[in-house]
Amino acid sequence: MAFLDIKAVSKSFGAQSVLKDVDLSIERGEFVVFVGPSGCGKSTLLRIITGLETVSSGTISIEDEVVNDVEPAKRGTAMVFQSYALYPHMTTFQNVSFSLRMAHRPRAMIADKVQKAAAILRLDTLLERKPGQLSGGQKQRVAIGRAIVREPRVFLFDEPLSNLDAELRVQMRAELMDLHRRLGTTMIYVTHDQVEAMTLADKMVVMHAGRVQQAGKPLDLYDDPDNRFVAGFVGSPK
Ligand code: ADP
Ligand code: MG
Repeated sequence: MAFLDIKAVSKSFGAQSVLKDVDLSIERGEFVVFVGPSGCGKSTLLRIITGLETVSSGTISIEDEVVNDVEPAKRGTAMVFQSYALYPHMTTFQNVSFSLRMAHRPRAMIADKVQKAAAILRLDTLLERKPGQLSGGQKQRVAIGRAIVREPRVFLFDEPLSNLDAELRVQMRAELMDLHRRLGTTMIYVTHDQVEAMTLADKMVVMHAGRVQQAGKPLDLYDDPDNRFVAGFVGSPK
């Protein structure tokens, strides 16, 4: 079985079917990027993987364990949102350390983990600032820092860069690739930006109307798209 296995996952909200029989295998350490138009079910699938949403049918397994009924805090996944979701009244240190403090970890351990995350994300000099005193890119780093200190086995990113201007997006993209190289952790990433997807992805997953249209290496999708939708989405001339 793959490191993370999505098997026959379907999801409906009332009468609306949002995910339809999604099958996908993700290997350990892979950088997987989901792309597809707004409303095709990308965020719902991420929320299901991390446990914020339940499936209507199907299974999610991580390292050979079905996690459908495992609560989010115990799945070993950490999600970073587009909106950062930082606590406005807390400093960078307090935001980054929040989950560790909630889990009553020893103070020395908390300080050590925050310091390591801050070094990776260049937040060292910003630890006493509150979100209102940070730029968009810095806020996004704090949000990533908050995920890193949890040492998850899977990172989930839901359009983390879409609030940033174009120049900063390109810079943060390079930083995310660097982060992936350093940590080697499996990353699952959602974007509607094709260039971002092609740049970041080991595996690109094109979704449309709740279904996986095709999954594979970006260049394979470009060279050999399974259908016109995929071709259009990756900008292939075929
Ligand atoms: P994407 O992230 O690809 O834009 P979403 O997964 O957010 O798409 O949403 C897919 C569809 O599911 C949309 O039509 C959305 O309105 C619907 N949806 C998502 N979450 C809920 C919910 N909690 N209740 C009802 N409908 C929802
Ligand atoms: Mg979304």
